[in-house]
Amino acid sequence: MKTKGIFITATDTGVGKTVAACVLGVLLKDQGLRVGYMKPVQCGGNDAELLKKVLDLSDSVATINPCFAPEPLSPHLAFARRNAEVNIPFIKQKYEELRNQYDVVIVEGAGGLLVPLKENYFVADLIRDLDLDVVIVSRLGLGTINHSLLTIQQARGQGLRVKGILLTSASPADGGASEKNSGIPETTNPQAIEQFGQVPILGALPYIDKLNPTAILKECRGNVNLTKILAPSQRVSSQRLKEWDKKFIWHPFTQMKDWLEDEPLVIDRASGSYLIDTQGRRYLDGVSSLWVNIHGHGHPRINQAINNQLNKLEHSTLLGLSNTPSIELAKKLVDIAPRGLAKVFYSDSGSTAVEIAIKIAYQYWQNIGQAKKTKIAHLANSYHGDTLGSVSVGGMGLFHNVYRKLTFPTIQVDFANFERVLKQRHAMIAALVIEPLVQGAAGMILWPKGVLKRMSEVCKKYGVILIADEVATGFGRTGKMFACDHEGVAPDILCLAKGLTGGYLPLAATLTTTKIFDGFIFDYKDQKTFFHGHTYTGNPLSCAAALANLEVFDNEQTLKRLAPKIKHLSKRLQTFDDYPHVGEIRQLGFMVGIELVKNRKTKKPFAWEERVGIKVCQEARNHGVILRPLGNVIVLMPPLSMSIEELDKLLDATYVSIKKVTGNSLVRPTFNINRRN
Ligand SMILES: *Cc1c(COP(=O)(O)O)cnc(C)c1O
Repeated sequence: MKTKGIFITATDTGVGKTVAACVLGVLLKDQGLRVGYMKPVQCGGNDAELLKKVLDLSDSVATINPCFAPEPLSPHLAFARRNAEVNIPFIKQKYEELRNQYDVVIVEGAGGLLVPLKENYFVADLIRDLDLDVVIVSRLGLGTINHSLLTIQQARGQGLRVKGILLTSASPADGGASEKNSGIPETTNPQAIEQFGQVPILGALPYIDKLNPTAILKECRGNVNLTKILAPSQRVSSQRLKEWDKKFIWHPFTQMKDWLEDEPLVIDRASGSYLIDTQGRRYLDGVSSLWVNIHGHGHPRINQAINNQLNKLEHSTLLGLSNTPSIELAKKLVDIAPRGLAKVFYSDSGSTAVEIAIKIAYQYWQNIGQAKKTKIAHLANSYHGDTLGSVSVGGMGLFHNVYRKLTFPTIQVDFANFERVLKQRHAMIAALVIEPLVQGAAGMILWPKGVLKRMSEVCKKYGVILIADEVATGFGRTGKMFACDHEGVAPDILCLAKGLTGGYLPLAATLTTTKIFDGFIFDYKDQKTFFHGHTYTGNPLSCAAALANLEVFDNEQTLKRLAPKIKHLSKRLQTFDDYPHVGEIRQLGFMVGIELVKNRKTKKPFAWEERVGIKVCQEARNHGVILRPLGNVIVLMPPLSMSIEELDKLLDATYVSIKKVTGNSLVRPTFNINRRN
């Protein structure tokens, strides 16, 4: 059988975890199983020696208890006072050793789930990292229901698999009314825990004062439901998930023929800058999970905000009603947006944010009687999303050509001719839609300086609505809150999505000026209402996440702390610049495109069939980094919270991957991995 790892935690310290671990160990051995034991972190006491003796283990105490501090304190304190830290990788290594030896490994925690082992790392995190099932030990008596339910709720909230509750007795005396079987069904504490906690009671241990196998077997045999504890957790195996993925999922922007031939990478959890797959392997999230993550994965404040909102209101519609978080967020967005933007229209993706902007701009002119202004202008190489409206204003042949006959005709401009085109054709142009400063999907193409400012002046001059699509550039990605802020530009319409919720939930916002809003204020019978809305518009959970995202910007001084990291990134990127296959490196803030070319001198590109970008990103996985290219442009777009050390790791992995794939003999100095700013 596959080794079973069971983590024993408790509702509190001193509840009888060690006794429960002893009993469980002895009973499982009695079933003929090879049982190992581990107490990863211990502060004071001698549980490891005790269990070694009772379970007759041959492992050294140092294996059974890899991290020990003599003072009976919370581990993070007990270790800090000795100038040390709980060594998690060492614990993992020792656990693996035991796992290879035994049928069952019992891992005993220190105190309860929220006991800090080190800074920002709790017992619950260790359980998740070791991928163990959880048994909660709870002491019978007054207060048991509350303590047990709190622990169950916390465990579930942390994504842990709870096997059930094991009850212990505090004294040899018979319990009080709460524990005794009253003879009336469903009137005891254990039943209440089972009912309200939706977990099984795994057994109730009598009071035991002698911890030896004979006594334990005599007192406890039959008291614990071992079958339930050993039952496989209801979890789909990694291999099965990969099969089902191929069988059932059609992946976006993916040639499924290739996908079906490759081994999919399935992400199961994440923490900070790291994504973790179903086999527990960790990868740096080098593109912020497709440009959305801002403050790292599993940020406690955003998690908490969603949780709080979840327990209040998960969804109610904005069609004919309002809700608290969507109101608070709208106010906050207007506060931080470029001046003049005063109204917020919600939707759920970048594509819809742009689609809505286009429809608003178009209808605005219709509503106020300028019926000839019907054309939308956009830039060459633009990308504004994948719905047909946003595809219409897209300028990327590879993505967009096939749909040409389904889309509406537009006016395409470039950085050189936009002024002339607007001058000549403004009478028919309703709006100009742009991705300010960085054309992301086109390969992180940077605008020439000053053009954005000029564009906004020209639009004003000729009465053309300027739509800034900051879906990618918004929320600090370029080093300022919005790309428009770099040139002091205030667009008439602003589109936000991707980073709006910190990368947690789908939400988009289209902000407009009061002037545009007023172009829709008519009598109902005039039929000039903006007839548009998505079912989940203004979803409270998403809005709560977005509010927390903005709070974290304030609390953690995200933009201020980003500035030196941007500098560091630039400095390190310069070292890429003389590599023969690097054609150009483009960077604004934390948006980076490294364009790979066949020949640096002639700028001859790699043929797209060579799939150089894809291959580099595949190779990066072998170095623990997740990237996603745009053609032959390697994109780096780390979460704003990524540390300098992690950035270095990201850059090192990117560099060796480029080198490996484009295969060059040029000898280069190796990087100092520990480089700091
Ligand atoms: C990603 C993106 C979009 C589309 O957003 P979705 O949420 O994928 O629909 C639109 N505009 C820009 C600039 C983008 O980068």
